[in-house]
Amino acid sequence: MEVSTQSILIIEDNATNMRLVHDLLKGCGYAVLQATDGTLGLQMAQEHRPSLILLDIALPGLNGLDVIRRLKKDEDLRSIPVIAVTACAMNGDEETCMRSGFDAYVSKPISIPDLLETVKRFLAPIENVFVPPVR
Ligand code: MN
Repeated sequence: MEVSTQSILIIEDNATNMRLVHDLLKGCGYAVLQATDGTLGLQMAQEHRPSLILLDIALPGLNGLDVIRRLKKDEDLRSIPVIAVTACAMNGDEETCMRSGFDAYVSKPISIPDLLETVKRFLAPIENVFVPPVR
């Protein structure tokens, strides 16, 4: 398998979702970075300049909407595509999410085909994609 230089930062406070998304993307060959709250996520975005960010909305401290506002205000970070991964559509807030600057939206509970398809819209395909079995 070709080594990928494409990295994805996951900002997610739920350990089960984090592990699911981490294992899935890692299995696809992406380099995966993990942050469990918004403040840490912003720090890691600044430090690592990932190719793509998956951002939960309901986070302790800075929530996902605070994080996307800060990302889009930062000249060095605003070009990084950000996908909202959230249940907020269930509250009718999808439009709010999209207006806040997200490039795409994946709803929870997470559909693996949806997530992969959305991620691949923003990143070049990786050869010999292996999708790990879901535990
Ligand atoms: Mn959350």
